[in-house]
Amino acid sequence: MTCTNRKIDHLRRQIPGFACEPGCQDCCGPVTASSEEMARLPNRSVAAHDAAMAHWNCVHLGPNGCEAYEQRPLICRLFGTTASLPCPRGRGPEIPTTPEVEKQVHHLIASTRQLLV
Ligand code: SF4
Ligand code: SF4
Repeated sequence: MTCTNRKIDHLRRQIPGFACEPGCQDCCGPVTASSEEMARLPNRSVAAHDAAMAHWNCVHLGPNGCEAYEQRPLICRLFGTTASLPCPRGRGPEIPTTPEVEKQVHHLIASTRQLLV
């Protein structure tokens, strides 16, 4: 396992989960991820990517929400768990992601080549 993969796993464990509003997809859209995170996501065809982008959507967004939830990128996991990325529906974990972990996520994003999911 690469160093980046270990960091991803470590950061995933530090970001608290929470229950979204059922059926809500408001915060999904085009996002980027490192190649290590991309490798964990299911493959989608070029046509599926094109169709998603035509609607400014994420290719993994299905009618019932994220179809790659277990492997969604760090930026998706962070959303709603920090004051700087608040859920517009007022959802979030009881205890937010710590500023240190948030900083580490942004550092990983800034220091890895990002690809459009
Ligand atoms: S984080 Fe908030 S806006 Fe995003 S899907 Fe969950 S409830 Fe909806
Ligand atoms: S990977 Fe999942 S959670 Fe992230 S933007 Fe796409 S559909 Fe939404």
